[in-house]
Amino acid sequence: MSHAGSRHENDGFSVERHERSGVKHLHLSGIIDEFADLSFLLHLEGEVMVHLGEVRRINSFGVRLWIDGVRAIPPEANVVYVDVAVSLVEQMNMIHDFFGRGRVESFWAPMACSSCGRTEKVLFRVADCKGSDPVGLESQCGACDAKMELDDIEEQYLAFLKDF
Ligand SMILES: [Zn+2]
Repeated sequence: MSHAGSRHENDGFSVERHERSGVKHLHLSGIIDEFADLSFLLHLEGEVMVHLGEVRRINSFGVRLWIDGVRAIPPEANVVYVDVAVSLVEQMNMIHDFFGRGRVESFWAPMACSSCGRTEKVLFRVADCKGSDPVGLESQCGACDAKMELDDIEEQYLAFLKDF
């Protein structure tokens, strides 16, 4: 239980685990900062799927912790990252090693409607973005059905694709 006021640890960060047909699923949520406990990364083994859609924010201390953690993942672990949140996509575009040896399967992108101006986040699969350059991310507006386009510079937002 958390109470308002000073915090001495990151009670805004949590990892939920479950296992399904031999694959370990880790659901990360909240804020990755200097108080986030990422020690679970040191103990990963086998097939692991890390869900990152609920990570709200990462700060510069968190980025350092994360990179150290990812580097310490045992080489025997086969890690796939899914649902990568927008804040983490931005980090992996800046930091080549952000996910180490792991593979990114899907990621969120900020989309904007060309017709009504609505913005929303949409999940895309890396495999679907392969093979065309520019990718031309597209989705359908939830409000007016018109075409939505990436609300960012594609060359920058999808720079990470070159690494996968
Ligand atoms: Zn629209």
